[in-house]
Amino acid sequence: MDTVPGPRSRELMQRAVSRLPGGVNSPVRAFRAVGGDPIFVVRGEGPRVWDADGQSYIDYIGSWGPLLFGHAHPRIVDAVREASARGTSFGVPTEAEVTLAERLCAMVPGLDMVRLVNSGTEATMSAIRLARAYTGRSKIVKFAGCYHGHADSFLIKAGSGVATLGLPDSPGVTTGVASDTLVAEYNDVDLVAEYFDANHGAIACIIVEPVVGNMGVVVPRQHYLEKLRALCDENDALFIFDEVMTGFRLAPGGAQERLGIGADLVTFGKVIGGGLPIGAYGGRRDLMEMIAPSGPVYQAGTLSGNPVAVAAGLAMLDLIAATPSLYQQLEASTKRLADGIEDHLRRLKVQACVQRFGSMWTLFFHPGPVRSWQDAVGCDTQRFARFYQALLQRGVLLPPSQFEACFVSAAHDDASIDATLQAIGAALEEIRA
Ligand code: PMP
Repeated sequence: MDTVPGPRSRELMQRAVSRLPGGVNSPVRAFRAVGGDPIFVVRGEGPRVWDADGQSYIDYIGSWGPLLFGHAHPRIVDAVREASARGTSFGVPTEAEVTLAERLCAMVPGLDMVRLVNSGTEATMSAIRLARAYTGRSKIVKFAGCYHGHADSFLIKAGSGVATLGLPDSPGVTTGVASDTLVAEYNDVDLVAEYFDANHGAIACIIVEPVVGNMGVVVPRQHYLEKLRALCDENDALFIFDEVMTGFRLAPGGAQERLGIGADLVTFGKVIGGGLPIGAYGGRRDLMEMIAPSGPVYQAGTLSGNPVAVAAGLAMLDLIAATPSLYQQLEASTKRLADGIEDHLRRLKVQACVQRFGSMWTLFFHPGPVRSWQDAVGCDTQRFARFYQALLQRGVLLPPSQFEACFVSAAHDDASIDATLQAIGAALEEIRA
């Protein structure tokens, strides 16, 4: 393979930087954390993407999570084509929105009603507005390294791109907003309990990624989420599961189903739009009926419930329903990949660990285990960057940051997993040398 990124991608990046901040529309895409320029993608199919220079890669970004069945699945492409031919947006109700809401409520435990929005950020932002309105309280508890989108309240010790770029809490967030966000370490319950003691009657909710993807994959300790649930109950606060990443990826009912724990409000995005922009939040009827126009909590959107995005989402849910072995298959291929990487690590005596949950995985350059953001910052990010580039040259595309989850799709067959393992072995040998 020629050196990547190739000349065409480089040329595009040169154009991009003069008109888009950092050359991109979302920070991590600039590949800065791995010390290079990005590739520009022109198309994807199944587990692969092709760049502007004609190189192909086995892709583990998967649009950052939505693509459970890989790129350009014919059923989703057809649904988009058909829906868009009927009109791309109306701004009045359509039947498909009702169907999507019914399907989501049928698949997710405890979901009585949902509101469709355009992104995960909108979903989480609206969910905490509702939690504050319901409880009449202003403070929220979040966890360092968890990412809930870019609304002001969440840009305090956030994960994902914020963590990747090592940014302090973002300028532009007022101290008033920041002081309402209490940050604890993930997998630690004591500080959360202290927050409740010290802020008696002032905490509206805990919001958590039930399985974290945004500092890399970090799994909850046994009974951790139950303890948070109990703290919420004891203090009349709401428990919000941010399932923007885990929803429909870990199980049809998301982490709630997979882990057997109920939340009061749940947020979605990614998978439920089949790769088109969508988000949703939902939960108990008495909570959701507080949303306008049923109730006084205002939240709206010109393109909310967009017919093309909804059609893609319904096609995705149809595919999930039509593939009873989906989650076992994802589990098996991701396990095969993770086991293979662990074999390489042992053989080559590389100090690193693989953390995995379902089809989400991260190779941390850290002796492990990584259980919190405090642990994650101990990763050797320079080593990750060298590994990343060595792997990219070998035709495997990971999210360009140590602090992200990689996603396996149903399109990642044994051949692509084996090819990935071979490339990872060679990349690890190269960086060891
Ligand atoms: N919550 C979680 C758990 C996420 O992973 C993300 C995006 N990676 C968001 C919220 C924000 O979603 P969006 O980028 O669609 O605004």
